[in-house]
Amino acid sequence: MPQELNFLSQLTGSFSLGAAGNPTVLGAAGNPTVAMIEAAYRHHGLDWRYINCEVTPERLGDAVRGARAMGWAGFNCSLPHKVAVIEHLDGLGESAAIMRAVNCAVRRGNNYIGENTDGKGFLMSLEGIVDPRGKRIVLFGAGGAARAIGVELALAGAQSISVVNRSLERGGELVTVINDKTPSKAELIVWESRYKVRPDADIVINATSIGLYPQVDARLDIDLESLKPAMVVADVIPNPPRTRFLKDAAGRGCTVVDGLGMLVNQGVIGIKYWTGIDADGAIMRRKLGDIFG
Ligand code: NDP
Repeated sequence: MPQELNFLSQLTGSFSLGAAGNPTVLGAAGNPTVAMIEAAYRHHGLDWRYINCEVTPERLGDAVRGARAMGWAGFNCSLPHKVAVIEHLDGLGESAAIMRAVNCAVRRGNNYIGENTDGKGFLMSLEGIVDPRGKRIVLFGAGGAARAIGVELALAGAQSISVVNRSLERGGELVTVINDKTPSKAELIVWESRYKVRPDADIVINATSIGLYPQVDARLDIDLESLKPAMVVADVIPNPPRTRFLKDAAGRGCTVVDGLGMLVNQGVIGIKYWTGIDADGAIMRRKLGDIFG
């Protein structure tokens, strides 16, 4: 049967909520993931679909039951569903269980298993540039992205992680999770004044929302002189890919890693989980580049 006559596509998608409550989050309508994933499905000749659904917290359980009923291969979920979705799933992957947050559900047999691809996508971006094993990390932020990255780096063998965060409470929670549940050592630095990056740091990461479009000129309150050329400096901000922080770091001679790659890699990992194929990240990166201009 020609593909255009086959109306029974394999379904995947995303459960999100409008961005009104949280300006750092893309709502269902503004989420570029659908275009990115579908570009990969088309490129690889897969008759699959990726559908963004706007789901309220009260309806999350119904949405997961609906996905089960329709045989979805899996789905992503964004804030505010990352924690609440856990009670509707059948199990958790290792890092998702430690961070207690899921952004990707994967059907394995008759079960939906919760994974977290935020940190895994970040790790994939580092691959080929630096192996985090035995490295000293400075991590700005302690929100969802920082938590995922911190746990994943710790599980990958990072020697130490200095969490630099404004709020003592959130920063403390992340440090406790890393120290209690992984072999790595973490310390908290409460970010109250201009921060000097420790000279022995190997990898420095912005996992705050500072620099996200449209606040493209916002700067991290750090002493730029403390960034050394031997450091690898990474940003989670996907838009713009070349953030102010990365420009500053490149100006200091550091090797830089952008947040667009992390987003693309999450697509690559999700597609691998759902379909089993290794999707071409370049196709997805190009699609996101078109969207972000
Ligand atoms: P959260 O709201 O959970 O956390 C935001 C973090 O940024 C907190 O640690 C917060 O500190 C800190 N922060 C915000 N503004 C400031 C400021 N002016 N000065 C110091 N610290 C600040 O957001 P997420 O962790 O979910 O997301 C963070 C960013 O990561 C977003 O911009 C998002 O777009 C990006 N992201 C990128 C992904 C990718 O694939 N590239 C994937 C996921 C997220 P405090 O705790 O003190 O409030």
